[in-house]
Amino acid sequence: MAATEPKISIEEKTVVPICSSCNRPITPWERGVAFRCPNCGEVIIWRCSKCRKMSVEYKCPKCGFVGP
Ligand SMILES: [Zn+2]
Ligand SMILES: [Zn+2]
Repeated sequence: MAATEPKISIEEKTVVPICSSCNRPITPWERGVAFRCPNCGEVIIWRCSKCRKMSVEYKCPKCGFVGP
Protein backbone atom coordinates (compact mmCIF):
# COMPACT_ATOMS: atom_id res chain seq x y z
CA MET A 1 0.00 0.00 0.00
CA ALA A 2 1.36 3.32 -1.01
CA ALA A 3 1.91 5.89 1.61
CA THR A 4 -0.32 8.84 1.36
CA GLU A 5 1.75 11.67 0.20
CA PRO A 6 0.93 15.03 1.57
CA LYS A 7 -0.43 17.12 -1.19
CA ILE A 8 1.66 20.17 -1.40
CA SER A 9 0.26 22.58 -3.83
CA ILE A 10 2.76 25.12 -4.79
CA GLU A 11 0.83 28.17 -5.69
CA GLU A 12 2.97 29.85 -8.14
CA LYS A 13 0.54 32.06 -9.80
CA THR A 14 2.46 34.31 -12.01
CA VAL A 15 -0.17 36.55 -13.36
CA VAL A 16 1.35 38.11 -16.39
CA PRO A 17 -0.59 41.03 -17.80
CA ILE A 18 -1.30 40.98 -21.48
CA CYS A 19 -0.64 44.01 -23.59
CA SER A 20 -3.92 45.30 -24.97
CA SER A 21 -2.29 46.45 -28.15
CA CYS A 22 -0.17 43.53 -29.28
CA ASN A 23 -1.59 40.78 -27.00
CA ARG A 24 1.86 39.95 -25.82
CA PRO A 25 2.48 39.06 -22.19
CA ILE A 26 4.20 41.87 -20.41
CA THR A 27 7.21 40.62 -18.54
CA PRO A 28 7.75 41.86 -14.99
CA TRP A 29 11.01 43.47 -15.90
CA GLU A 30 9.42 45.31 -18.71
CA ARG A 31 8.10 48.75 -18.09
CA GLY A 32 4.51 48.24 -18.93
CA VAL A 33 1.77 50.58 -17.94
CA ALA A 34 -1.69 49.85 -16.63
CA PHE A 35 -4.57 52.26 -16.68
CA ARG A 36 -8.29 52.16 -16.65
CA CYS A 37 -10.26 52.53 -19.79
CA PRO A 38 -10.95 56.23 -20.18
CA ASN A 39 -14.37 55.48 -21.58
CA CYS A 40 -15.97 52.92 -19.29
CA GLY A 41 -13.39 52.90 -16.50
CA GLU A 42 -14.02 49.24 -15.76
CA VAL A 43 -11.27 47.53 -17.64
CA ILE A 44 -7.61 47.73 -16.81
CA ILE A 45 -5.70 48.28 -20.00
CA TRP A 46 -2.15 47.07 -20.10
CA ARG A 47 0.39 48.30 -22.52
CA CYS A 48 3.91 47.14 -22.96
CA SER A 49 6.77 49.56 -23.23
CA LYS A 50 7.08 48.92 -26.91
CA CYS A 51 3.49 49.80 -27.73
CA ARG A 52 3.65 52.77 -25.45
CA LYS A 53 6.72 54.04 -27.18
CA MET A 54 5.28 53.50 -30.61
CA SER A 55 1.88 54.74 -29.44
CA VAL A 56 0.08 51.76 -30.84
CA GLU A 57 -3.62 52.07 -30.32
CA TYR A 58 -5.42 49.84 -27.88
CA LYS A 59 -8.95 48.57 -27.72
CA CYS A 60 -11.03 48.12 -24.62
CA PRO A 61 -12.41 44.58 -24.51
CA LYS A 62 -15.53 45.77 -22.77
CA CYS A 63 -16.75 48.85 -24.52
CA GLY A 64 -14.63 48.69 -27.64
CA PHE A 65 -13.09 52.04 -27.06
CA VAL A 66 -10.05 52.57 -29.22
CA GLY A 67 -7.54 55.10 -28.11
CA PRO A 68 -3.91 56.03 -28.22
ZN1 LIG B 1 2.32 45.75 -26.72
ZN1 LIG C 1 -13.91 50.52 -21.88
